[in-house]
Amino acid sequence: MAAIKVGTAVAKPGKRTTGELVVGYYPDRAITAPVTIACGAKPGKTLWVQGCIHGPEVGGVVGILRFLEKLDLRKVSGTIVAVMLANPTAFRGYSRNTPIDTTNLNRVFPGSADGPHSAQTAHALMEAASATADVLLDLHSGGDRSLVPFYALYWDDGSPASLEAGRLARAAGTRDIWAARDEWLGGAMFTILTQRGKPALIVECGGGAQVPDEHIASYVTAIRGVAQAIGILPGKPARQKSYRMMREGLLVYSTSGGLFRPLVKPGAVVRKGQVLGEIIDLHGAVVERPRAPSKGLIASIRRRYMPVYSGDQIAECNTLVGN
Ligand SMILES: [Zn+2]
Repeated sequence: MAAIKVGTAVAKPGKRTTGELVVGYYPDRAITAPVTIACGAKPGKTLWVQGCIHGPEVGGVVGILRFLEKLDLRKVSGTIVAVMLANPTAFRGYSRNTPIDTTNLNRVFPGSADGPHSAQTAHALMEAASATADVLLDLHSGGDRSLVPFYALYWDDGSPASLEAGRLARAAGTRDIWAARDEWLGGAMFTILTQRGKPALIVECGGGAQVPDEHIASYVTAIRGVAQAIGILPGKPARQKSYRMMREGLLVYSTSGGLFRPLVKPGAVVRKGQVLGEIIDLHGAVVERPRAPSKGLIASIRRRYMPVYSGDQIAECNTLVGN
């Protein structure tokens, strides 16, 4: 079998190798993503794990680094392809959207070879992942603006790849799982890969412009659990006693501006109409109290005293299955 190759990184049994994957071009040079390939001494499946498809979500990258640091390649059967920056220019610009075309990269998959800038980046990632990966694990967080609970997300269309992604989500070390069919996730990398027959999932954790050890540990747990579930690492992933299944992601937007003061924590279960926080103006008056659109789990909430514009996403409230 030909060696796994991602950009200039080439897998070597029992070794860590590094390289760069071209995902676009500046006027004067290539835009490249740093890649590490950790290749086990024994053959097996290939797990593609990536971070920073949204620039400020660096927690996932730190989680990958911590996981790789402790990895004993003699115990690995298969290969881990780690793409540290899925969206290098968003990372450099510290921006959720790609600065060059102000596009959310994770909404334009599968992209195209000759489309707009982000479409080409999406295409480059799709081509490389499709050629090498058996499974995609895409790490996210609340970035610099919001906080999210530790949860796994997969595309739930009932296909074999989707069912496998659901199994892997249950191995990711959290009891909170979002089995999504939301239209607005239609252009996400995990959605498209799943629809094309490759199990793919997102793990979300933390944010709020901070990366505490607790969040790094959650990412490491998720990577290890998924790697165990597909036989790359020995041992069985820890199963949770029960799972809280989310169905639909409802986005809550502000209609005024000011400073946001959350009144619920990420992961809290709220009732329909519950006040999620307050927006105060610069004279100290409360000008808005955003409310939960449904009973559900707070899958994202703006961080404390984050300035908001009208129309900013204040929270994401995900409906719970069986409620
Ligand atoms: Zn993200």
